[in-house]
Parts: sequence; structure tokens; C-alpha cells
Amino acid sequence: MADERYRWAEPGLEEVTAGVFRCPLPLPGDALRAVNAYLVEAAGGFLLIDCGWDRQESREGLLAALQRLGATTGSIVGIFATHVHTDHLGLAGWVRDESGAWLTLGIGDRDTEVAFAQDPASARESSLERLRRCSAEDVVARLVNLRRSTEDSPWLPPRPDFYLVGNELVSLGDFELRVVATPGHTRGHLCLLDEARSLLFSGDHVLPHITPSLGVELPLHDSPLASFMDSLERVRDLPAELVLPAHGPAFSGLAGRVDELLDHHRDRLKSCLQAVGAHGSSARDVAGALPWTRRRTRFSDLDPFNQMLAVFESEAHLRVLADQGRLGTEVDGGRARYLPRSPSGDPHPARTSEEGWHG
Ligand SMILES: [Zn+2]
Repeated sequence: MADERYRWAEPGLEEVTAGVFRCPLPLPGDALRAVNAYLVEAAGGFLLIDCGWDRQESREGLLAALQRLGATTGSIVGIFATHVHTDHLGLAGWVRDESGAWLTLGIGDRDTEVAFAQDPASARESSLERLRRCSAEDVVARLVNLRRSTEDSPWLPPRPDFYLVGNELVSLGDFELRVVATPGHTRGHLCLLDEARSLLFSGDHVLPHITPSLGVELPLHDSPLASFMDSLERVRDLPAELVLPAHGPAFSGLAGRVDELLDHHRDRLKSCLQAVGAHGSSARDVAGALPWTRRRTRFSDLDPFNQMLAVFESEAHLRVLADQGRLGTEVDGGRARYLPRSPSGDPHPARTSEEGWHG
């Protein structure tokens, strides 16, 4: 049942295990419905993991949760943002101002955070520029129209007190939580492992129902999908009986879910390879040829924001195929095209039959 699937997003407070509380904060108008903030109780106060949008609804949700715990914002001693996206880091500046807590972010997200803090207009423009390089002018036009109609003042990310690289121990009263670097969804994405309680706070890295987007950050030089798949292997066998994701209910079976995500992307790589035409295709062409979401929605039926995600995700897959030598690449007028290769690994000659080899 559709509603059953989103029960996790209903406002409230769930004690997932002793001293660890899940507090869904609403994301009005967003398909994700809500983001889970986690409050971890220790002798000296609470650690807050992710904190929702910088909006009144999030403030009210968090204050209500703290009140139910007999606490206030002043009880929060630290804020751990799994990554730079606004539904995770959005409210952190406000919480820090209210509480005096420290705030951490993954070092890999620093470029995105600094760019959005210093010049949000050009940071936003850079995603449009990337779409143009993917030949997605139609998506650019729709996004520009949408922004004109919903123009609000841009969110400025707060400066963290500490950047984390991974493998640090976050000490909290009697507890120690291990930082696990999981680049992929963003370059600086971090998970947090509580070995004593066998918990993994997985952020957007491992979600129970959906696959996270790839590459929604400043333009990058590495390969987000390759990083994401490596990071999935890295967490697969961690000692965590319970996974606490940012979107969706707590779940068990980490290795099984990781395998599903890896299989999904391996299938998607095959589909992307097959979608590349005999004379080459852009990421926009490939995104347009594939179905999206588990409902297999057509690209043309997605909203502009999700079309952008689809183009970036296709680009991430094509990039891996090119790095594996299964596709060639060509940049013409600032636009990237991906070209099929013959079974011998040679690029097809420019004029070939319509039956390209699709491996
Ligand atoms: Zn995210």
C-alpha cells in the first residue's frame, strides 16, 4: 500500500534502540517526503546526525522531538552532517547558533559548500553549464523557467567547525562512533558506525527503497559512480545489524541491500551501453532513452529537477563505461558524446551500420 511505504515519514519520534532516536523532519513538496534526523543520547548531551531543511517545519519538528526527550537545543553538543545537501545540512547553522554545538562535514564536500556559501548564483549556474555539456538544453530551459517562478533567497551553507576525512572516532560520553568515508552520492559523504550498538548511520549512501542520485554537487573530476560502487563494497560487511538511513525506515540486512544496489547499477550500465546509438549519444540522449524510478517513468514525464538528476546519473554511468574502455568519447563544441566500440575494442568507424555492437 502506498501509504504504508511512507509511514516512516510521519512526524514523531522513534527510539530505534536504547538512546538512539529517529526524528523524521518534513520535506514539503519533495518526493522524498522527509529526512531522518537522529538524536544519539550520551552522558554529556545529544549528537544530532543530519537536520533537515532550513525551514520552520524542521525547526518545529526538532524542537518537538527534543521536548519529548526532556531536552532543549542547548542539550545538543555536536552536529554531524553526512553530506552537504540542504536536507542534511540545511538547519545546521541555526542549531549551532541555538546550542553552541560543533558541526562537522566531510572534507570532500568542502568545495561545494564553499562555492554555495560564497557565490550561490554561480554555483547554481555550474549545474546548468554541466547540463549543456550533456546536450540537455531542454532541461536547462525548464529549470530556468521553474527558478523564475519559484525564486526564493538561496540557502547559504554554514561553515563547519571541523572537516572529517574518514576513520576518525567521534567520542560522545561513553560512546565512540567511527567515521566511514563513503564518497559517491557526494564526494564528501560520510557514514557513522556505532560498533558497540551494531548500528550504521548510513545517510544517503545506503537507502532501503531508492538509489541515491549521483553527482549533484560542483563539477568534479572523479567518477561518482565508480566511487559510489567502491564505497558500497566498503560498507557491505561492516558489523552493523541495524542500518539507520536518512530517508526510509531503519532496516537490517546491510549486505543484502548493498548487493541489490550494486546489481541495480550493473544492470543500468548494461542499459546505458545498449542505449548508445551507432553514431554516438550524449548523456541527454541516453537519459531520454531509459526508464526512470521503480515505476519506469518516461524521461519526458519527469519534473525538471528529476530530469537533471537523470542526465547526471546517465553521465555517471557513461563515464564508467568510457573508463572501462567499453565506450569511446568525443568532445565537440564543449559537448561530450559517447561512441560505441567494436568487439575488438576499436572505436567504430564514423559511418557504420545502424546495428552497432552493444556488448
Ligand atoms: Zn543527498
